[in-house]
Amino acid sequence: MSSPLYQSPKGTHDILPDDHLYFSFIKKVARHHFRMSGFRRISTPVFEDIEVFKRSMGTDSDVVEKEMFVFQSKSGKTMALKPEGTAAVVRAYLQHGMQQMPKPVELYYIEPHFRYSRPQKGRYRQFHQFGLEVIGESDPAIDAQVIHVAHCINRDLGIDDRLVLQLNSIGSSEDRKKYKEELIHYYTGKERSLCEDCRRRMANNPMRLLDCKEEDCQILASLAPKIHSSLSPESKVHFALVQEYLNELGVSYELNPTLVRGLDYYTHTVFEFWSKKEGAQNATGGGGRYDGLIEIMGGQPTPACGYAAGMERIAECMKEAGIRPPNKDKVDVFVAQLGQEAKKKALSLISALREEGVNTVGAIGKSSMKAQMGLADRMDASYSLILGEVEVREGTVIVRDMRRGSQKTVSSKGIAEEMARILGKKKLSEKKLWEE
Ligand code: AMP
Repeated sequence: MSSPLYQSPKGTHDILPDDHLYFSFIKKVARHHFRMSGFRRISTPVFEDIEVFKRSMGTDSDVVEKEMFVFQSKSGKTMALKPEGTAAVVRAYLQHGMQQMPKPVELYYIEPHFRYSRPQKGRYRQFHQFGLEVIGESDPAIDAQVIHVAHCINRDLGIDDRLVLQLNSIGSSEDRKKYKEELIHYYTGKERSLCEDCRRRMANNPMRLLDCKEEDCQILASLAPKIHSSLSPESKVHFALVQEYLNELGVSYELNPTLVRGLDYYTHTVFEFWSKKEGAQNATGGGGRYDGLIEIMGGQPTPACGYAAGMERIAECMKEAGIRPPNKDKVDVFVAQLGQEAKKKALSLISALREEGVNTVGAIGKSSMKAQMGLADRMDASYSLILGEVEVREGTVIVRDMRRGSQKTVSSKGIAEEMARILGKKKLSEKKLWEE
């Protein structure tokens, strides 16, 4: 076979029907938990003024430094495809005066995001995240609740036991000032063992050295002073309470003093879900508290906490676990016809079955009855309804039970309702079930 003329752009992929089984299921489970906890959905544009990201994520974060898809609008403004959700949600929160809403404001999103990095397994240039933000409450119980919602989603997707929750506190911005000085002191004299990126970051953002993936940098990071000793008594209490609440909620975690998350806006609690499987791209999701961000973006000081998960990585994790999501895509009834009059009747029969909520496919092309029945087999339909000229004349239809291979001729009147009854509630599409 010759290779096709065009391919999807490097680092992107098509989500094929089989993949959508996973994506739809992940969305469904996430939405279910968000709704139950009072979250409401928000969508922001796929691109924003680049300043939204520079200001929020910090110019020396990996994402802003080298991973943004940047373009110039015709009016000369510099725009960027959205690399993550939080900055845009905060921009929208401020733009639409959501500060006036009862606190905390609870929002969720399910969106594509874009990062220009070297493509590899689990790291793409277009990927999809679902995420949540809780804005306007500083209580550590919120941090625990955000983590608990994420945990419940992982549990219901069946991947909970394949993940380990990593937890740390990076304190307040004052705590971090102190800690950064300690880190600079520790790393001074060790520059030669650091990678180029880390050497460059040492002066401005030494905490980023802690989550570098290079082996030598990781060894140094594991021996570096830990943040805990730099935390103020208030920060320590906040973190201790988060842990207490998580224990109460039965969420297990591992304390990881080198977890910092790559972005400037985090404060206090940070967390990530890591796959137990070895490999560099192994976090399915992460988040934390970002008490300073809304002020940085021009609002009043407002505490907040959030989480985002990568749907491609979650789907991969589900596949590794051998999980096949349930779905209602199955064809229940196949309508076969022969002759011009039968075709006309078949069209209205197909429509009536679908109105009843029955998943129905019909072969209304010109193929032979044998070919049509072959198709019904391939689609694994439970029943076939067969219409020929005789049936049309007599007002009947042949109902063939595809499993048993038996068939009988019945009156075509009320057959759609009858098929819905035979298939039972569980098989009917959601539209029909919503009406109840
Ligand atoms: P982050 O906030 O960068 O930690 O992203 C949250 C989650 O989104 C990660 O844990 C991944 O599951 C997913 N993610 C981030 N970047 C990518 C990418 N380039 N390709 C695929 N998934 C990604």
